[in-house]
Amino acid sequence: MPEEIDVSDCTRCAELCDARSRIVNGVGPTDAELCFVGEAPGEHEDETGDPFVGRSGDVLDDALRDLGLARRDVRITNCVRCRPPNNRDPTADELANCRSHLERELDAVDPEVVVTLGKVPSEHLLGRSVSVTAEAGSVHDARIASDPRRVLVCVHPAATLYDPSQRETFASALEAAVDLVEGGGDQSRLGEF
Ligand code: URA
Repeated sequence: MPEEIDVSDCTRCAELCDARSRIVNGVGPTDAELCFVGEAPGEHEDETGDPFVGRSGDVLDDALRDLGLARRDVRITNCVRCRPPNNRDPTADELANCRSHLERELDAVDPEVVVTLGKVPSEHLLGRSVSVTAEAGSVHDARIASDPRRVLVCVHPAATLYDPSQRETFASALEAAVDLVEGGGDQSRLGEF
């Protein structure tokens, strides 16, 4: 992984450093057109070092496969790179501490579309309160670091496990993201898959 987006030894959050097994960096091509941003690693991610490898990851992988894509075709990362104890939400300080890691990653990957998976990443990157269920599939122009980005809001994949009625919402939002990339230019790499 390029040095600029691989965080190998961050000690900004004392509680997370104490609790983590490892830092969970983003995975996927460093020139991906689609970048998924989740909240923070859970137990499986903390064990393996890869984002979205638990049940939420299975939901994401299945939805990508239904669209003719695989995990290796997209970038997957999180707002916070260390597992919060007991899977609590990351605090505002933790989000702020980890922000520059995410900004550097987005800067390096430069995706066409950033898909925010759930409330925490949606609010973190849009800088306002978001109802992800109501706004799933909507696209917003955001400024992240100094760069203009297209952000597509999506429900968290775990929401589909608790509430099956969210499956369609999740699948439609992902389809909208892929459509956006494919309509985004003649050189779309996603069109090849
Ligand atoms: N949930 C997240 O938000 N991120 C992960 O990496 C796994 C589950």
